[in-house]
Amino acid sequence: MDAHIDELAGLEVRNAGHTWSNARWEAGNVRDVLNYYSAAPERLFGRQIPVAGGIDLTIHEPLGVVGIIVPWNFPMPIAGWGFGPALAAGNTVGLKPAELTPLTAIRLGELALEAGVPEGVLTVIPGKGTVVGQRFVTHPLVRKVCFTGSTEVGKQVMAGCAEQVKRVTLELGGKSANVVFADADLDQAAAAAPYAVFDNAGQDCCARSRILVERSAYDQFLSLLEPAVKDLRVVDPADESSEMGPLISARQKQSVTDLVDATTVAFTGSAPEGDGFWVPPTVVLTDSPQERIWREEVFGPVVAVMAFDDEAEAVTLANDTEYGLSGSIYTRDLGRGLRVSRRIAAGNLSVNSHASVRYWTPFGGYKQSGLGRELGPDAPNAFTEEKNIFISDE
Ligand code: NAD
Repeated sequence: MDAHIDELAGLEVRNAGHTWSNARWEAGNVRDVLNYYSAAPERLFGRQIPVAGGIDLTIHEPLGVVGIIVPWNFPMPIAGWGFGPALAAGNTVGLKPAELTPLTAIRLGELALEAGVPEGVLTVIPGKGTVVGQRFVTHPLVRKVCFTGSTEVGKQVMAGCAEQVKRVTLELGGKSANVVFADADLDQAAAAAPYAVFDNAGQDCCARSRILVERSAYDQFLSLLEPAVKDLRVVDPADESSEMGPLISARQKQSVTDLVDATTVAFTGSAPEGDGFWVPPTVVLTDSPQERIWREEVFGPVVAVMAFDDEAEAVTLANDTEYGLSGSIYTRDLGRGLRVSRRIAAGNLSVNSHASVRYWTPFGGYKQSGLGRELGPDAPNAFTEEKNIFISDE
């Protein structure tokens, strides 16, 4: 992996329109995930539990075949978060990339063979979700499905897996909140906010697509946010300096512009004219939690900003969603940062930061954002069955 970072990143720049800096991070993330879980086989600890009349021990056994279904937004990392710990726990893996972004997955499969992973241990199977993905769900030898993608398809996968009581992990949509209190370092919060939502052109399940700002700091925050959004370098992702590229497809652009057309835009950043599915970074102001732009996952570079009056209202508004994946809290009061983190029903919260994902910490959603966790020290266990063995000393 390490020797192929630029090659893999280049494939993603061309296939998915990712910026070079993102694509290099993504390839490096797969390398780091593999490195981290390479030590997991020696650490798949069972327990020895005191019992009367003998000895009791637990062991973690591999499930068998694991099917990993990957979306188009982060083709490399999401694949690696599945196959890294799944292989480390002793399973074999079938990996299905998204229809639009199969190139890096195919190359990862070749690199695995070159690195000595036996044939059939990591098998990359490009194809349609309704064919290959569905076969993972229905084939009895696939003992677990790891699905990342839309909440709608995730529900179908879960229902299909129920037929065989098949293990399933779901990483689905999000509508995360970035909560900015008046006591925050507003310069820091406003400088970070565009990256928290416009990274990967907003095609990120962790995108903080709702910004909640305490009313007394609202005007000042917006006056700092506007230049930060306008300064974002939205150019051809093949240009090394690009900070945001186009959307993945005409369909995705249409779905984003439909949502934008249904609301009132406050200001936008720039975007190139011409070829490519470009949407400029877009900021919407709203005071209605019923607006579609406030409720629906956009999966594009659009953020809605709303004012709140106190901490309790901020928590209520942040939680007023069917999703619960991530979120940020900006405040200089760390007691409040911790308190609000505990009250927001989401799997990954950051105080004074917009980072959501570290491969050595758990990642996953509350509510309809998902089921189960990926990454972190416990991820290999999610690809095992725990067996209990009692040996009598009689
Ligand atoms: P999707 O859920 O349709 O596809 C995700 C993956 O599932 C793809 O590999 C696809 O081939 C596969 N798939 C599709 N139908 C399947 C089925 N019936 N059985 C098994 N596998 C199936 O997502 P999409 O069409 O790529 O994107 C649609 C929306 O989903 C986006 O606009 C966005 O809102 C959301 N999304 C979320 C994430 C995320 O990381 N949470 C990622 C991508 C898309």
